[in-house]
Amino acid sequence: MSTFRLEPCIQLPLSQEELKESVDKAKDWALMHGISMRSKKNFNKDQVQILPFTLIPSSFPKKPFLLVKNVQILLNELIHKVAYDKEFLTNSLKSTVQADPFTAKLFHIYETVYKEGFSQNISLGLLRSDYLLHNNHEIKQVEINTVATSFAALATVTTQYHRYILEELGHTETRERIPENNALAGFITGLIRAWELYDNKEAIILFIVEDVTYNISDQRFHEFEICQLRPEIKIIRRSLTSLVSEGIKLGPNKELIVANKVVAVVYYRSGYELEAYPTEKEWDIRLLIERSRAIKCPSVQYHLAGTKKVQQSLAQSSVLKMFLDEKSVNKVQEIFTGLYTLDFNDDGEKAVKVALSEPNKFVLKPQREGGGNNIYNENIRTWLNSRKNSQERTAWILMDRIYPPLQKNYLIRAIDEPHAEDNFDLSDVITELGIYGVTLGDSNEIMLNTQVGHILRTKSSSENEGGIVAGIGALDSPYLIS
Ligand code: ADP
Ligand code: MG
Repeated sequence: MSTFRLEPCIQLPLSQEELKESVDKAKDWALMHGISMRSKKNFNKDQVQILPFTLIPSSFPKKPFLLVKNVQILLNELIHKVAYDKEFLTNSLKSTVQADPFTAKLFHIYETVYKEGFSQNISLGLLRSDYLLHNNHEIKQVEINTVATSFAALATVTTQYHRYILEELGHTETRERIPENNALAGFITGLIRAWELYDNKEAIILFIVEDVTYNISDQRFHEFEICQLRPEIKIIRRSLTSLVSEGIKLGPNKELIVANKVVAVVYYRSGYELEAYPTEKEWDIRLLIERSRAIKCPSVQYHLAGTKKVQQSLAQSSVLKMFLDEKSVNKVQEIFTGLYTLDFNDDGEKAVKVALSEPNKFVLKPQREGGGNNIYNENIRTWLNSRKNSQERTAWILMDRIYPPLQKNYLIRAIDEPHAEDNFDLSDVITELGIYGVTLGDSNEIMLNTQVGHILRTKSSSENEGGIVAGIGALDSPYLIS
């Protein structure tokens, strides 16, 4: 654990009286503005409850914040180029495809569509690159998300909340210290531009969602915001499983047709997790969508470009040069930390050896998204010892452990969440910054490449990982300090 500490933006602790009043206000503000989700314990479509959030914004040094904001358009460009480089994707994922059935399925769809020839060459990327501060003022990338990237909407609302609460607590200058955040507007712009490019006024946008959606507000904000700006664009929500029974087909020109409507854009808010594919039929639907003329967010090649294995390949020296000019390479390299292959070769054997000798310095990661999958500390030793000679290890990567500084904050959770009794306790927390990026382009050009906003997600320092919908992480905003 890091021994560095950041000072909070206001004097803590608050008095019991001030705290109680602030938490009351905070919870009502959050509910009334949509920092909310459906309860997992008492699921009811008529109700939402607050998502975990921090009472006050967490301190974040300005320099690394601006550094990663500026680097985002280079990462967008990088991911876009990687997604359209068949040879690079194939070589990077070769061993993983043999060891990991999920990645293999995605890769098989990619190869199938590649061989047939893409009916739609354009991909829409709604990305988020995640970072932890390292020790004092360094910042290092944790991962980049290319599929079902969440919280662009709620991050925007959370920025407004933190400005409100700090002002209530008597703080001025909140506008300078809590930076503008238009992540939702940026994502919506991407979806609308993709719809326009499809060039069919009758065509709709299809959101692919889970069978049961808990993180409903974040998703619906995207939908409702599009309807507000462009009422002529119709949006429907379907799970892959519901499409199996409802029916989905290709028209004579490979148009994607659902509910008798042509689909212009398919926006995945699900489909990155095993649970979205309970049978082969859901995989068939994913393939059908990829074969179609609809613009996908993400296309299967974008999905693959966001895997941890590709991230690890990109961190090898000299690889970035294939995609970016020299100045850009240096900027991107600065935010990478050590990532190591576990393939059966010299590099892989070396990685196993150092991880076994000092497991606390590393994190072991599979090709999964959504939190709770990584392995830490002594468990790395146990895991590696039992799989040293198994093909399974090549589906994983090893990464240098990042040590973010601690600070104090209050985590606010709905009463039925785990740890809700901590409500009024000041916790030691660590924060993870995410920067949102949007890309739209094909194999020849990138038509849209923007950095659109950010999110801070905060968890108790005693947790290795913290999903927000899982109730461990909390929505937060950066309060910039020098
Ligand atoms: P996922 O795709 O499941 O979100 P991540 O790579 O983001 O996978 O890892 C999940 C969490 O694990 C991160 O949010 C972070 O808290 C922690 N984590 C990941 N990589 C590191 C690292 N190198 N050092 C320290 N913590 C890490
Ligand atoms: Mg993550």
